[in-house]
Amino acid sequence: MIAFFFIIGSHFFSWGSQPVPNQMKCGKCGTVDTFAKKQGMRFITLFFIIPVLPISGIKELMQCPVCGTKYQTKS
Ligand SMILES: [Zn+2]
Repeated sequence: MIAFFFIIGSHFFSWGSQPVPNQMKCGKCGTVDTFAKKQGMRFITLFFIIPVLPISGIKELMQCPVCGTKYQTKS
């Protein structure tokens, strides 16, 4: 007998890293520096790691180079 089990979850995947042309101030650590612009999407995942189905559109994020806090840009 074959037992099937699936662990379904969701995870936010982000990729890309482009420097932002102008400097921004981080609201968490107060650093003023060039942030990295990333894109990300939330996926339904299987076994925590396998993205199966996107459940959000592509979101643009800015990441602080010092503390790593991600900010979602309004779009
Ligand atoms: Zn920061």
